[in-house]
Amino acid sequence: MINFEDTSIAFDRLKNKELWRARLLFSVLAFPWMVKTGKSLIIGMQKMGISPAWFVKPTVYKHFVGGETLSACNTVVESLSRYGVKSILDYSVEAIQTEKAIEAVLKETLNAIRNAATNPNIPFAVFKPTAFVPHSVLDKTEHPDSLTAEDIIQLNLFRERIDILCHEASQLGIPLLIDAEDSWYQAFIDDLVESMMNKYNREKTIVFNTLQMYRHDRISYLQGLIQRAEKAGFKVGLKFVRGAYMEKERARAQLLGYPSPIQPDKAATDRDFNLALRISMEHIDRVSIFCGTHNEESNQLLAQLILDNRLKINDERIWFSQLYGMSDHISFNLAKAGFNVAKYIPYGPVKHVMPYLFRRAEENTSVAGQTSRELRLIRKEFKRRKSVGLR
Ligand SMILES: Cc1cc2nc3c(=O)[nH]c(=O)nc-3n(C[C@H](O)[C@H](O)[C@H](O)COP(=O)(O)OP(=O)(O)OC[C@H]3O[C@@H](n4cnc5c(N)ncnc54)[C@H](O)[C@@H]3O)c2cc1C
Repeated sequence: MINFEDTSIAFDRLKNKELWRARLLFSVLAFPWMVKTGKSLIIGMQKMGISPAWFVKPTVYKHFVGGETLSACNTVVESLSRYGVKSILDYSVEAIQTEKAIEAVLKETLNAIRNAATNPNIPFAVFKPTAFVPHSVLDKTEHPDSLTAEDIIQLNLFRERIDILCHEASQLGIPLLIDAEDSWYQAFIDDLVESMMNKYNREKTIVFNTLQMYRHDRISYLQGLIQRAEKAGFKVGLKFVRGAYMEKERARAQLLGYPSPIQPDKAATDRDFNLALRISMEHIDRVSIFCGTHNEESNQLLAQLILDNRLKINDERIWFSQLYGMSDHISFNLAKAGFNVAKYIPYGPVKHVMPYLFRRAEENTSVAGQTSRELRLIRKEFKRRKSVGLR
């Protein structure tokens, strides 16, 4: 069992001042009405052309974001690396849809892949596929009959862009994580990413898809994918997460009158998440595991599976990951024990990362216990520092 309670390891990187900032931030996030008010205020300011950067940047942005540019993240990357924690830099601009903007994100993502190739502390690159095609077109892939000739041109362009990114990653030997968002177009993305695995995951696992285990159909999808990969002879890279869009998924299913793709309850999501880890571990010669979770039990389980299977503790096929600014007690204690750990670090200009920050804020108010857990650990660390005269 890994001891996640060792706060001296979890927070060693943070000076008292930074720990106070984290305490203040999580105290605010504990109140949903404060998050709601803050969000409305920021959206209102943006509508009036007033930048909220002056108060967002030194607070919530500084806590959850690495910086505005790749090079601005160097300080954070370097500081995590001193504790054996690696970094994954995620260009987190959302909801940009013009052709020009799509090309700019493509260029930036290529830069991020090249940047990873020059820095051993950045073992992966990452992108959101929705950044590379208009949402309206992607939405229509749910009903292929409704696609127009122009939509098909857009989807072919989308395929080309994803191929450019996977090709570059493959040339440079940098594994590439592809995020998942809404379920209704995920089948199209799954097929596309699988074709990229088939093309680029021959020698090394370069392309990783994301499985959201809050979907009740993901275990059977995983089993089918492994079978197809065995038959076709490619390696499978998978990022496992529980899923970040549960409320939106349920609301849409209800509104449009189709069965919800989401599990009936949290226990079912937990069960499938852990089962997916076990199944992947049984096929570890084919499947690489990237475990993206703040759930202590799932992290313990994966650590135990590594030990039970007598794998090297830092087997290159298995990674643990948490978001920057969250669950340091898991990341730093796992890294201290010698496991492969990487923080997901978003970067980008303040106004473009606001949707990401709203999601983090809302998640921290809605995920039962997460904020209170962060606060409890921060308080415990203050107490410890006081007892050894560090304040
Ligand atoms: C490195 C990393 C990468 C990520 N990438 C993605 C991504 O590409 N796509 C994405 O969607 N998310 C992504 N996430 C977010 C992730 O999906 C979760 O929202 C978040 O991590 C919280 O889940 P947990 O496993 O950490 O913690 P937990 O607190 O154990 O689980 C909370 C999660 O359980 C599920 N859940 C809660 N209540 C219920 C219920 N009543 N019924 C069914 N399920 C329930 C929800 O998914 C909820 O988010 C990522 C997270 C990390 C750490």
